[in-house]
Amino acid sequence: MSEKFHFTSVSDECIKCGKCIPVCTIHQVNADEVTSPRGFIDLLGAYQRDELDLDKQAKDIFESCFLCTACTDVCPNDLPTDMVIEEVRADIADKFGIAWFKRVFFTLLRHRWLMDIMMKLGFVFKTCGFKQEPKKSGMVPRFNLPILKADRLLPSLSKTSFLNKYPQEIKTKGTRRVAIFIGCLANYNYTSIGDSLVDVLKELDIDIFIPKKQKCCAAPAYFTGDFYTVEKLAKENIEYFETFIDDVEAIIIPEATCSAMIKHDWEIFFKNRGMTDWEERAKKLNKKIFMATEWLHNETELKELLESRGVNFEESVTYHDACHAKKVQGIGEEPRALLRANYELKEMSDSNRCCGFGGVTMQTEKFHLAQAAGKPKAAMIKESGAQIVSAECSACRMQISNSLHQNEVDVTFKNPVELIAQSLKEGKSN
Ligand code: SF4
Ligand code: SF4
Repeated sequence: MSEKFHFTSVSDECIKCGKCIPVCTIHQVNADEVTSPRGFIDLLGAYQRDELDLDKQAKDIFESCFLCTACTDVCPNDLPTDMVIEEVRADIADKFGIAWFKRVFFTLLRHRWLMDIMMKLGFVFKTCGFKQEPKKSGMVPRFNLPILKADRLLPSLSKTSFLNKYPQEIKTKGTRRVAIFIGCLANYNYTSIGDSLVDVLKELDIDIFIPKKQKCCAAPAYFTGDFYTVEKLAKENIEYFETFIDDVEAIIIPEATCSAMIKHDWEIFFKNRGMTDWEERAKKLNKKIFMATEWLHNETELKELLESRGVNFEESVTYHDACHAKKVQGIGEEPRALLRANYELKEMSDSNRCCGFGGVTMQTEKFHLAQAAGKPKAAMIKESGAQIVSAECSACRMQISNSLHQNEVDVTFKNPVELIAQSLKEGKSN
């Protein structure tokens, strides 16, 4: 087992005020003190003091956290519950190992060329990652493989990935230049997000650099405790980013989870392991990492351009605040301001409530919890009366699209960048 992280420094600071409990995603679907931020922290303190064995029951409890960060957002002591759970999951992975289908998935994430081939064959998401109709245990016994619920909506695969579709350099008439980090779901599944971002940047006359050797941000591995994969991917990406960072104004990312991982979690990861050199290198890059709508809103005249096109769509939009956008990076007003130029926005009752994605384990072995957390989100989207739900996060897209499907809510999901590109296109043709 790895040396224990300093969990007691967090557990000693918990004043048991309970402010985190009403907002906790797992507590909302499993109202038990044990599965609450305060409960997790208490157990971690006991684990540090050798009063708690990291047995199967403890594993089950720590794997039920959605890592949504809702608790950290309200905690008066700023306790990083999500981060300490990520740390204990590495101990869990050390002790119990990582399920073979996740190991296969993380191996693919570490080797883009292999992922490209597998995605071309079109079966990674269908055979390795997700559940079918749950048996008693929720797994296919012989292969220890989670199987897919028959009516589950999964993202389809694109024939050509975003990174393979475009040249490395896209020139415009302008003098500004940005790089795009695309994220795996937008690279292989929701490729219209990248297409839209390219279209928007071209309209703004901003040159585009598409770094072809970019790798996964490592978020899926981080949330699962596979720290070997996290270290490898973060280091390789940092080394690569450093080769071009001085030649671009920014690296823009139309994905909240990837952006939060690169901007915040790489640094924390290296800090927690005492790798100060890498921590500093990650920190230095951070200054140029932005979510796409954040950068487009704050650094360009896009809003004015959208307003000048004079398009007013009949369809209305309700905006979901992805946890990794709003709670981790404070981004929420920027995409709304851009969308308001051409769409009516209808706020849902609690846009900040987690959609229930929760990561690879939640989407496989604990999918019943993801489904339970997704139901109220689908209901509030329906109640908003909007025809489109938008969030700058493909993990939310996957979870919300499925929740809408399973709860028979007829609302379409779009990334805000897709909606913005559509506005520009429509305005041009008018
Ligand atoms: S990260 Fe989310 S699910 Fe986990 S303890 Fe905090 S509020 Fe609850
Ligand atoms: S809000 Fe923070 S201090 Fe209060 S119980 Fe939750 S974790 Fe502890």
